[in-house]
Amino acid sequence: MTQIYKNFIGGEWTNCRTGKTFPNVNPADTREIVGEFQDSDETDVRDAIAAARKAQAVWANTPAPKRGEILFRAANLLEQRGAEIAREMTREEGKILPEAVGETARAINILRFFAGEGARLAGAAIPSERDRVFIHTVKKPLGVVGLITPWNFPIAIPAWKLAPALIAGNAVVIKPSEHAPLCTLRLIEILDEAGVTKGALNLITGAGKAGAEIVSNLNVDAISFTGSEATGSAIAVEAAKRRARLQLEMGGKNPTIVLKDADLDEAVGIVSNAAYFSTGQKCTATSRVIVEEAVLPEFTERLRMKTANLRVGNGLENGIEIGPAINEPQLEKIVSAVLQAQKDGAKILAGGEHLTGGELARGYFYSPTLLTDVNPQMEIAQEEVFGPVLAILPARNIDEAVSLANDIRFGLSAAICTRSITSAFEFINRVQAGLIMVNLPSAGVEYQVPFGGTKSSSIGMREQGAVAVDFYTQMQTVYLKY
Ligand code: NAD
Repeated sequence: MTQIYKNFIGGEWTNCRTGKTFPNVNPADTREIVGEFQDSDETDVRDAIAAARKAQAVWANTPAPKRGEILFRAANLLEQRGAEIAREMTREEGKILPEAVGETARAINILRFFAGEGARLAGAAIPSERDRVFIHTVKKPLGVVGLITPWNFPIAIPAWKLAPALIAGNAVVIKPSEHAPLCTLRLIEILDEAGVTKGALNLITGAGKAGAEIVSNLNVDAISFTGSEATGSAIAVEAAKRRARLQLEMGGKNPTIVLKDADLDEAVGIVSNAAYFSTGQKCTATSRVIVEEAVLPEFTERLRMKTANLRVGNGLENGIEIGPAINEPQLEKIVSAVLQAQKDGAKILAGGEHLTGGELARGYFYSPTLLTDVNPQMEIAQEEVFGPVLAILPARNIDEAVSLANDIRFGLSAAICTRSITSAFEFINRVQAGLIMVNLPSAGVEYQVPFGGTKSSSIGMREQGAVAVDFYTQMQTVYLKY
């Protein structure tokens, strides 16, 4: 029998008020329902926000290093359950098991990192211009924060929002994506078991309408969202109406530049990893490779061979490199993006197929796809596909390559492959992106450093690393005359 999972409100596992549920389907084998989840609406969200408001002061009054101990305990619990949760991640999201294991390990690191921040939530003491006046700053929690997350990193993204929000003393209401809610639910189970104050931690599952209530509810002091540009833009408008503090991490159309002096074998590895792994369903995935003309034929041929030989299938099987798209609409989006690119004049060098042979017919599989004859203004070179689709663009030299890289409204991650230190620094100085990679894949970031984009990719303060706590705190300046 399919297991029914509940919301977590005020420290209790509860059904949503309407009693409706929705299925979480395995994208590699749609015969498998991973679980049924509460199809919550506005009233459930309001209950969760009220519970959070009630508990927030108790949690905030728990000394921050003690809150840190609870997060350390949660990290240990996640480590104990990591193998089981990684398998669940592959079943609900489709990414291959080694990637799911890696993502779980990252969530453990994130919990430990922010646990440590509990003992470092320091303000500053600043000299006054007046005699016997002592000035210092303190960081205080915001109150209740709403966290809205996508499906593509179903434990790492919830962890990198929950951990800094909680360590700062906020109560939280989190709504994970309806397409992969189980891993977030596991994280909530673990944080609860570790000892977070009842009511300070609330989970609501459901579709966009539940997220919309978090955004518009006056009792939510701040909203941190990761997801698509379209949803993020709508949230920005709503949040602005009530001047809520907001952080948005959205899409990308990330470039990797390959210069003629690059180690081409290494560059092929870097580009194929960044473009195709996780089925291209990473906000930091490379979807444009900009290649200096002198090495274009050779690089293209090596990349074509690599692309054509990637093994697609169920991520639980050994040796599989690329899993399925998350669901049918996402698969259709990939299919239509490639068709449109062809209509616009692009040619398929590898892939370009919805895979339906044998067991693949049970899931949403699409072959890793390499496109050439792409003009920089085509839709395929401007819009995020969020699938294993890569466009090659030629450039005469580094100047043209950097202007092509920047000729886009997004600015999340950008990479370059070169052996020239001067070219690397030209790129670092001129590229418009929040994450800059030299001889590394555009995707693949570390947990202890700031993460976020520029231009239409992001709004608000950075996530991850010590600076992530800034979003979840307000600074107060104290003047004291003695
Ligand atoms: P999405 O925008 O469809 O959904 C994200 C979340 O928002 C889900 O929980 C969804 O239920 C909720 N939501 C939908 N409508 C809402 C509304 N009106 N108000 C409030 N919440 C609402 O995104 P997705 O398909 O889950 O994720 C894929 C997207 O996420 C891609 O565009 C990708 O680039 C982006 N992403 C960005 C980053 C980053 O850090 N920049 C990381 C991962 C994914």
